[in-house]
Amino acid sequence: MSTVYILGAGATKAVAPRAPLMNNFLPLAFESLANDPRIQKVSEFVSDFYLGSPLPSDAQSMQAILPRLEDVLSQLDLCVVQNRPLSANYPLQKVQKLREDLVYLIARLLKDTLEQLERDWHITRGLVHSLTEEDVIISLNYDIIVDNALAQEFGPQRVNYGMDVRLLYHEYPNSYYEPTRAHQGELPRDLYKLHGSLNWLYCPNCQALDVTLAEKGTLLVFNEKRPATCQICQSPYQALIITPTLLKDYANGLLLQVWRNAEERITRADRVVFIGYSLADADVEIKCMIKRATYNGWRQRGRRPTVTVVDREGAGTEAEERYRRLFGEIEYLPIGFTRYVRERIGGT
Ligand SMILES: [Zn+2]
Repeated sequence: MSTVYILGAGATKAVAPRAPLMNNFLPLAFESLANDPRIQKVSEFVSDFYLGSPLPSDAQSMQAILPRLEDVLSQLDLCVVQNRPLSANYPLQKVQKLREDLVYLIARLLKDTLEQLERDWHITRGLVHSLTEEDVIISLNYDIIVDNALAQEFGPQRVNYGMDVRLLYHEYPNSYYEPTRAHQGELPRDLYKLHGSLNWLYCPNCQALDVTLAEKGTLLVFNEKRPATCQICQSPYQALIITPTLLKDYANGLLLQVWRNAEERITRADRVVFIGYSLADADVEIKCMIKRATYNGWRQRGRRPTVTVVDREGAGTEAEERYRRLFGEIEYLPIGFTRYVRERIGGT
C-alpha cells in the first residue's frame, strides 16, 4: 500500500500559523520590510508595471489590488526563458536582478515567520513518523518544515529529494559530507519539492546541488557582504526556487528529475492524499501532471488510486467541487491537517 501525500500551503499554515500564504507575500513584505533596499526594488517594479501608480501604505489596502506572487514570478521567468526583455526600461539584466530580489523577498519573509516553529510542529512529526519506504511526500512549499521533521525522525542523510544531492552541510561552510556515501544500506524517505526549497544551494559552475540542514540556506545566497560560495569551486551559489514556467530550462534538469520522480510515484500509488492544497487555477502544470499520473496508474494497474482531500476545518465547498471535477469520486475531509493526523494516521 503506497501513499503519496501532496502538501500545499495550508499544510505549512497549520503548523506555523504566522507563516504567510502565497497571496499575502507581496503586501506583507512591502509593509513589514519596506526599508530593505532589495524589497524596495520589487515594490517599485510592482507599482510601475502592475499598478501604474504608487502603492498604498498598508498591507490590507495592498492585498486588494496587488498581483499574485506567482504571476509576478512567472512574468519574469518567461523573459528569462525566452531570452527577451520585458520592455525598453526593463532589459533582461534588470529582469534577472528583479527575479533574484523577488526570491530574496520570499526567503526573507519565510525565515522571519518560520524562525520558531509553533505549537503544532509535532503534527508534521506525526505524519512523517507514519511514512513507510513506499510512501512519498510531495511538497509545493519552499519552507523546510517537512525536511526538518524527516531529518529528526530518520536522520538527515536519509532524506531523499528525488535528485542527486552532492554535499550535505551540517553547518555552512565547514561541516559537510557526501550523502550518497552516508546512506548506504539505509532506506531513505522521499520528499519531492516541486518548486525548489529554501535550503537548496545550486552551483552553476559545478552544475551540482548542495543542501543545508536545518538552516534556510537560500538566505546565505543573499548575504550581500559574504554570499555563500560552493566549497568545491568557490563560485557563488544560486537559490533554487522556481515557478513551473522555468522548469524546462532551469538548473540543467535537476528539478525536472524531481518532477519525473514525483509523477512516477503518483502513477504507482494506491492512495493520493492532498493536504492544504487548493488546486488553484494557476497551477496548470501540477494539475496536469497529477491527473496524467493517476490516469496512467489506473490504466496500467487496472484500479484507480483513491483520492483523499484534507481541507481546513469548516472549509466551503469550492475546493471540493474543483477536486471532484478533476478526479471524480474523492474522499473529502474538511477537518484540517491536525485532526487528520490525529484521527486518520494515529499520530499525536
Ligand atoms: Zn562549484
